[in-house]
Amino acid sequence: MQPFRCAVCDQLLFFDNSSCLSCGSPLGFLPEHNRLVALQTDSSPLRAADGTPGDFRRCANLSTARCNWLVAVDDTEALCTSCRLTSVRPNDSEVDAIEAFAHAEAAKRRLLAQLRHLGLPVIDRSVDEQRGVSFEFLSSRGQNVITGHEAGVITLDLSESDDAHREFVRQQLGEAYRTVLGHLRHEIAHYYWPMLVLDAGRGDDFRALFGDERESYETAMQRHYDRNAEAGYDWSIDHVSQYATMHPWEDWAETFAHYLHIDSGLDTSLGFGLSVGEPSLSAGTAAAVSSIGTAVGPMVQRWLSLTIALNGMARSIGQGDLYPFVLSPKVIAKLDFVHRAVTGE
Ligand SMILES: [Zn+2]
Ligand SMILES: [Zn+2]
Repeated sequence: MQPFRCAVCDQLLFFDNSSCLSCGSPLGFLPEHNRLVALQTDSSPLRAADGTPGDFRRCANLSTARCNWLVAVDDTEALCTSCRLTSVRPNDSEVDAIEAFAHAEAAKRRLLAQLRHLGLPVIDRSVDEQRGVSFEFLSSRGQNVITGHEAGVITLDLSESDDAHREFVRQQLGEAYRTVLGHLRHEIAHYYWPMLVLDAGRGDDFRALFGDERESYETAMQRHYDRNAEAGYDWSIDHVSQYATMHPWEDWAETFAHYLHIDSGLDTSLGFGLSVGEPSLSAGTAAAVSSIGTAVGPMVQRWLSLTIALNGMARSIGQGDLYPFVLSPKVIAKLDFVHRAVTGE
């Protein structure tokens, strides 16, 4: 995501900011414009300092979810268009769970802003139960909660907001990374699958690349466990993650989530005017050679060049790789499928 600028003092602003660190102007995010704006300090209702038309108020979740999104004054809902998609959340009295909820809502706002930027529809399930999406953010303390998607309802176990817990699970599962935003990007992929693949007439192309999703979960899962137990089996030849080998739907969700990572990372780099030169440029081009000619090719090339440099930067300050992934030719072909499904090419 691109950074923003304060219309009052020109300070650099980030998506989650609710006041300008330089001039103190209150800030609010306008979802329909996908823009963070400084607000006039003397107006009620709220108005944008840069002259963007409209009268606004703050989302009612400003304190519980640290939500900085604005709502049109004549909107009958108290919550913004992101917060109102959450149908289940912890009680205000559960302090730890509310903190985890705020973390999850921040990731969700980032997800929704990106989906709008990509032109993907986000339909409120309370308005359209057949085609809409909603979120259930549940604390697994005292109950069993499984992160997942079912018919438009995305459930997130809020213990995923706890850094120590999440890191423990990540190591247990041998994952390259694990984040709340990554979970949400994965689950929303399941929501979009019927819309972007089946309804769009891409079912046969999907099966040729990802496998037949009509196969039962049990059969696919058994193959997943058998395959991963084989000596010498390398999931990374065909899949972006080990979890993606579970079922064609999981493969789609992992690939789609990865596509959103790349799209968002590139958008951010664009906002900062980042570009890389030699040797990462030529290394990135060499690594992406199989993607040349695909629709996603130029994107993958820019991404690989950039992440080669960023990994070098991370190592130079003693950190692990910022981007600990390898994109095989087959994975790039799957990313190309996702790219065409998202852009309608
Ligand atoms: Zn300012
Ligand atoms: Zn909100």
